[in-house]
Amino acid sequence: MVTAMKLTNTYTGNLEEFVPLKKDEVSIYVCGPTVYNYIHIGNARPVVFFDTLRRYFEAKGYRVRFASNFTDVDDRIIARAKEMGLPESRVSEQYIEAFLKDIESLNCLMDYYKPKVTESIKLIIDYIGQLVEKGYAYVVEGDVFFRVAKIADYGHLSNRRLDDLIQGARVEINPLKESPLDFTLWKKTDEGINWDSPFSKGRPGWHTECVVMIDDIFGGMIDIHGGGSDLIFPHHENEIAQSIACHNHQIANYWLHNGRLQFEGEKMSKSLGNVVLVKDFPYHKMALRLFLLSTHYRSPINYSEQNMKMFAEEWDKINSTINSLYRKIDLSDDKDAPRNIYQEVDQSLKAFAEAMENDINTPNAITELQGLIKIANIEIRKGKDIPKLKAIVEGILFMLNILGLKPDLIRLSEGDIVLIRQWEKLRHEKQYAEADQIRAVLQEKGLL
Ligand SMILES: [Zn+2]
Repeated sequence: MVTAMKLTNTYTGNLEEFVPLKKDEVSIYVCGPTVYNYIHIGNARPVVFFDTLRRYFEAKGYRVRFASNFTDVDDRIIARAKEMGLPESRVSEQYIEAFLKDIESLNCLMDYYKPKVTESIKLIIDYIGQLVEKGYAYVVEGDVFFRVAKIADYGHLSNRRLDDLIQGARVEINPLKESPLDFTLWKKTDEGINWDSPFSKGRPGWHTECVVMIDDIFGGMIDIHGGGSDLIFPHHENEIAQSIACHNHQIANYWLHNGRLQFEGEKMSKSLGNVVLVKDFPYHKMALRLFLLSTHYRSPINYSEQNMKMFAEEWDKINSTINSLYRKIDLSDDKDAPRNIYQEVDQSLKAFAEAMENDINTPNAITELQGLIKIANIEIRKGKDIPKLKAIVEGILFMLNILGLKPDLIRLSEGDIVLIRQWEKLRHEKQYAEADQIRAVLQEKGLL
């Protein structure tokens, strides 16, 4: 299919041709949610983007191995559990379930590896033990810290200089650390959920889980590691530091990061009271997905009540166009005619693929989809060329499937077709009273 695919790699800062480690396979890991609350639409952005990336690879014929974790051990979960008077496990289970429900409503592919921290504790303790053994980590009074000074390349991903980082980190000085940049691998604590380990009774820090899970699932380097741009530093930088220490590689060949989502120009946050939860999104969920893909994944995106209305209308238009296409096809005497090849449809598909190949440029891909919708509406009005209508509907569905936009299809049964024809015939013969009776039935069935 068309030219070589290109992706912007945060690690090098360049737009690079994508070459997978294995010929027909792509491995992707995306940092998942900390499960202490419902997700808001900003949290949904990486989920939707990386699901779209996966869908595109699959459409290209790759087998995609996709993993995204649940951080189910965290101070915020412990605090929430106290607040709710429940054990931590109940809190995390509840929000894992809610998360899965939310992303399913956004039509994300649900079959992927979903490792949890609580199920990876032994592996995490072993990994930290290895880091200590190799001299990359040290134990102080039961806490374990990573020795950042041992990683010559530290700061590469976030493109920061070590000196600047040290200056910046001086604010919170922990007397137990050798350097302010050293990060926690294991925290000694009695509070909340904890485990026995050779270091102390406690729980792991956040940065080790992803490296351990990637190792466990994929057994080495992967193609793509993704997440929101807010994770580049320190989380992803720290993942790389640990992997270099343990395995001498930077985890992934391509590091992809999505930009932030803003609410009417401001950060979406609880303290500002402007959080829109995915479950409470006031329009069709496909309008939300369309909105999230309407801006290039690396750029910031702005949510406003006004543009959401516009996306809801746009989605309605796409959905009703597909149903009109099917209606024309289903009601035609020519409905079994095979589809033909049409240059304008193929050109749209080609331009769509080119947009996707160019760093997953979904806004341009959506423009191509809209172009095909326009062509569809012209052909629907003409209403004659069934093979062309079929080619168009197939093209639109192909694009929608890659973007993960699922239309609400209304297909006519044989009985519906008879009824609609009867109604049309009666109207044509000006037998309005009888026509109205059938019209009422059709309306009841939601077919008018
Ligand atoms: Zn991570």
